[in-house]
Amino acid sequence: MIALTIVVPCYNEEKSLPLFRKAFEDFAKTLPRKYVPDVVLVDDGSSDRTWETILSWSREDSRVTGYMLSRNFGQQIALTCGYEHASGEIIVSMDADLQDDFSIILKMLDEWEKGADIIYAVRVSREKETVFKRFTAWCFYRFMHLVCKTNAPMDTGDFRMMSRLSLDALLHFPERNRMLRTMVGWCGFHTAKVQFDRKPRVAGETKYTLSKMVQFALDGIFSFSPLPLRISYFFSFLFFLVCAGYLLYVTIACIFWNEPLVRGWTSLIIILTGSSALNLLCFGLMGEYISRIFDEVKQRPLYFVARNTKDQDTGRC
Ligand code: UDP
Ligand code: MG
Repeated sequence: MIALTIVVPCYNEEKSLPLFRKAFEDFAKTLPRKYVPDVVLVDDGSSDRTWETILSWSREDSRVTGYMLSRNFGQQIALTCGYEHASGEIIVSMDADLQDDFSIILKMLDEWEKGADIIYAVRVSREKETVFKRFTAWCFYRFMHLVCKTNAPMDTGDFRMMSRLSLDALLHFPERNRMLRTMVGWCGFHTAKVQFDRKPRVAGETKYTLSKMVQFALDGIFSFSPLPLRISYFFSFLFFLVCAGYLLYVTIACIFWNEPLVRGWTSLIIILTGSSALNLLCFGLMGEYISRIFDEVKQRPLYFVARNTKDQDTGRC
């Protein structure tokens, strides 16, 4: 018997969870008998009835356990909590909104049986998402791939299967600023991909607004790549070329063309303002790293669990 744990972060998913439950029960029936599925649900500080829904499901089905975080910590931390409490030999992470199809888990299991430790679900199409969301996602994955040089394939979110070996490796990461997909890519191991068509949400709304997506992308870049810090080298080289070129021009103009040197006020101002803007940009970039170093050195806990379904009989739930 092989235990298969499905980890699901949930934030205001009271409408999706009953549909997720039905999909899980159907899936469990199609699963080969040697696999024993269980579900770890993490309520990421929801303000609707998500926790009550998790609690009643866990009371009716012993395969389900739930953890309620003390506030909203964000999907990556909620997923980390789920991973830390997952006991299976195989661990799958997926959204609560059924955008990630259960049937793909069967394809992932084929790859696991062939020896893969990490199986990524690669999105080949995104039904009913706006052109804007598709375009920004397309740019995001390509940019991240270029900047972070991660081994994770492009167009993969957090729908993946991991072996116990690779998950235990991932759990060694102590960092607070987390983008799990790039961290998983960093781990290495024997990987495989399966392709899938990402469906629309079954209920509720996406929790990723534009500003959250930008924040997520910045977190990923600054916590995984030193490249922005090196931008200042590029600009200093560029400015050196501009200054050297201008100096050459002034010298030639003065010696050979007899031009008066008082001209050039505009170029002076442009160079001055331009270089101070770039100085500030480089300070800003350094600031991004320093604020993250600040976060890391504080060594705060990643999250707090306020309730869990196993303690339901203590009356605290
Ligand atoms: N989620 C979470 N905490 C958050 C935001 C999202 O636990 O702060 C969960 C959410 O309930 C869902 C998953 O993370 O199960 C992915 O979120 P969502 O579906 O809104 O993102 P999208 O698929 O639109 O990118
Ligand atoms: Mg989703």
